[in-house]
Amino acid sequence: MITDSRVVLHVGLDDVDSQISGCTTHFTYAVVKELFRHIDCLEFIDYPNLVRLNPSIPFKTRGNAAVALRFEVPYDDVEKVIKIIVDMLEDYTSDLDDKGGSEPGIAVLKGNVPEALNKLYLKALTDYVHVDYLRNVISEVRDLKLPLGITRGVIGALAAIGWIQGEDCTYELIAYRSINNDGGRCVDVNSVREADIKYRDYVFNNYDHEDGKMLITPHGGNPVLLGIRGEDPEIVVKYFRELNICETYSGYIIFRTNQGTDSHLIKRDLSELRPYRTCCVEVALKSKPLQLRGGDVIIKIEDNPPIYAVFYNETSLSSIARKLDMRDELIICGSVKQWSDLTNVINVEKIHINRKVRTYVYNPKCPKCGRRMKSAGLNKGFKCGKCGFKSKEVVKEVANIVENVNKTFITKVGTMKHLTKPQCRYGKEKQCNFIKPINDWIQ
Ligand code: ATP
Repeated sequence: MITDSRVVLHVGLDDVDSQISGCTTHFTYAVVKELFRHIDCLEFIDYPNLVRLNPSIPFKTRGNAAVALRFEVPYDDVEKVIKIIVDMLEDYTSDLDDKGGSEPGIAVLKGNVPEALNKLYLKALTDYVHVDYLRNVISEVRDLKLPLGITRGVIGALAAIGWIQGEDCTYELIAYRSINNDGGRCVDVNSVREADIKYRDYVFNNYDHEDGKMLITPHGGNPVLLGIRGEDPEIVVKYFRELNICETYSGYIIFRTNQGTDSHLIKRDLSELRPYRTCCVEVALKSKPLQLRGGDVIIKIEDNPPIYAVFYNETSLSSIARKLDMRDELIICGSVKQWSDLTNVINVEKIHINRKVRTYVYNPKCPKCGRRMKSAGLNKGFKCGKCGFKSKEVVKEVANIVENVNKTFITKVGTMKHLTKPQCRYGKEKQCNFIKPINDWIQ
C-alpha cells in the first residue's frame, strides 16, 4: 500500500543468534530503537511480530523464533532503512562469541503481503521448507529485497512477514539485560507469583503454580532478562512494572505473537505424516502402551509403515498414556521426528481422548434368586449368600462401558513448546489483525 510519498514496509529477520549468545528478538529491539533515532515520521502499523515456526526443525537454536516489523516510512527513506538494518546486523554478528551454524536472513517487502508468503508461513510452521520451495516463493513475490541474498534465515524472515492475519494471537513483553553474563537473572520470585495471581485471567505460562517456579527468566548467556506472556499488551506492561527486578536492564519491547495458539497443530491423516511435520491425527492404537527406561511411554499407532507416538515422562503425558486402552478413540497432536533407526515417531504435545472404553468385571448373579454371588474359594466357583446356591459353572460377567471423555491433556506448563495452547487459554482465542501499538510498547 503506497500512500502519496509513504510506503508500508514489512521487514523479516531471522537466525541472528548462536547457541550461546545473541538472539533475534534482542537484535530487533536494537533495530527498532535505531530506526526511531534516524528515521523521521516512522510509524509502526503493528507491534513487532514474534513468529514461532515449526518446533521440530533441526537448525533452531532454541524456540525457532522469527520476527517481522511492519511500519510506514517516507518512500525516500526505504534505502536508508535497509542500510541501517544491514549495518547493524554486521556489527551485531561480529560481536557474537560463536556464529556456529547461524545464517542470518533479512527480507524487506514493500506494500501488501502476497498469498505466496502466507503459504510459506503455513509450511514453515507445520513442515520442512526446502530451499527449492523457498526459491519458487521468492520468484513469485514482487517488491521484495533480500539484502543478504538467499540464506537459510530468509525462510524464517519471509515466513514471519507471511504470518496469517485474522487468526488468534497473544503478546510477550521481553526485557533485556544491560550486562550479558551467564549468571541467573535477578528477579524476585515472590513478586512474579503475586503479579501472576493478580493478572491470572490475562496471562499464561509465566509462573508454574504447581511446582512453585517462575517461567519468565531463561537460562544461560543470552541477553533476555525476562519475557511476560499475556492476552493484552497493557496487562503485560502492568505485570512487568509490579516485578521486583534486582539487576539493571536496558529496556523492553512488546511483541504480538502466535505463541500459545496451537497454530502449528493442523489436522492431518496418518498417511500424510513425514519427518518434521506437525500434526493432529485421529489414531487407533496398534499396541498397548510400552514403558521405556526413564518412564517415557511409547505406543504403536500404525503398522505399515510403522509409526509410533512417544509420551515423555517430563511432560506428564506419560501417566495418561500408560492408562490408554487399545479400544480408546483419541486424537494425538505433536510433531514427527525420525529416530536414528529411521522409525517415525510423533513427539506428543496433546492427547484428546474422545471416548474411553472401560472394562468392568463382576461376579455372576445367582441363577436361582438373582442376588450377586461370592467366590466359593480358589477353583470352587461361586456361592450365593442369600439362597445358598453353589456352582462351578457360572462365570464372571464382563461389561465394556464406553465413556464420552472429550478431554484434552496437555504437556506440563514448564515443558510446553512456545506454540502450544495452555489450558488457561481455551476460550480466550481472538481474531487478530495488524494493530497500532500502545504508547509505551518500547522503552
Ligand atoms: P532463537 O529462539 O534464539 O531466536 P531459534 O530457535 O529461533 O533461535 P534460529 O536461529 O532462528 O533458531 O534458527 C532457525 C533456522 O531455521 C532459521 O534459519 C530459519 O530460517 C530456519 N527455519 C525455520 N523454520 C524452518 C522450516 N520449517 N524449514 C526449514 N527451515 C526453517
